[in-house]
Amino acid sequence: MQTSIDAAARVLARANMAVALTGAGISVESGIPPFRGKGGLWERFDPMTYAHIDAFRRHPEKVWTVLLKVLSDTLGKARPNAAHRGLAEMERRGCLQAVITQNVDGLHQDAGSREVIEFHGSMASHHCMDCHQAAPSATIDLADLPPRCDCGGVLRPDIVFFGEAIPTAALQRSAQFARMCDAILVVGTSATVEPAATLPRIAKQHGASVIEVNPEPTYLTTLSDFSLMGAAGAIVSRLVTALDAHL
Ligand code: NAD
Ligand code: ZN
Repeated sequence: MQTSIDAAARVLARANMAVALTGAGISVESGIPPFRGKGGLWERFDPMTYAHIDAFRRHPEKVWTVLLKVLSDTLGKARPNAAHRGLAEMERRGCLQAVITQNVDGLHQDAGSREVIEFHGSMASHHCMDCHQAAPSATIDLADLPPRCDCGGVLRPDIVFFGEAIPTAALQRSAQFARMCDAILVVGTSATVEPAATLPRIAKQHGASVIEVNPEPTYLTTLSDFSLMGAAGAIVSRLVTALDAHL
């Protein structure tokens, strides 16, 4: 396994198709806590109480209260950081075909990335649990929780709760990118949530180089061709600079 940013940049520059897989870690420097690890949301909130679809069905007001707190404390204020901007720049230069993100914060799009697959959905839109009518987030009245549709049904964000399937189109396109790419840049994910965690493994099985960016070792580190240890903002910025020498 290699640790050279320059060598990793060379692999990315030479790839016919490179994709990124990102997780909560890429948004930590934007002020959004990850799920696991120090300061993670799961130190404060039990995931099975707050992140499972059964919990949402049983106690939507309870889950909405936490969602609202996370929204007002972090998501609502967050701006893209150097890592989001670096991936957008790589796409503009033709060095990255897509970003597959497990995040629901919309920061890749805010940074200018165009080809973004939201593997776990997004907080940007909502729909009614009963009549399925879409509800733009801006129009939702959060004065009384849970927010409700005109039909009386509970509104839910278009995120994937635990216990729910990944949207078919996102799953199929991501798996296709994983099979076809020559390099996959994995940034800020603990690689514990399936099926997202299998994407780098699929890529590797099909001959791609795996480049991991994370301050900590993960389950993916041993299968990675490159382990670039450090915070996403600094490492991705250095990768983008190093790409110049190889384009
Ligand atoms: P995770 O919380 O399981 O792991 C976060 C990873 O990020 C860890 O490996 C950690 O070492 C790493 N990390 C911490 N700081 C970093 C930094 N500055 N730079 C790079 N890496 C850093 O996250 P996950 O693997 O994405 O899985 C958790 C699930 O939580 C995902 O499904 C995601 O949808 C959801 N989630 C999303 C957000 C968001 O939208 N921003 C926030 C929290 C959780
Ligand atoms: Zn409705």
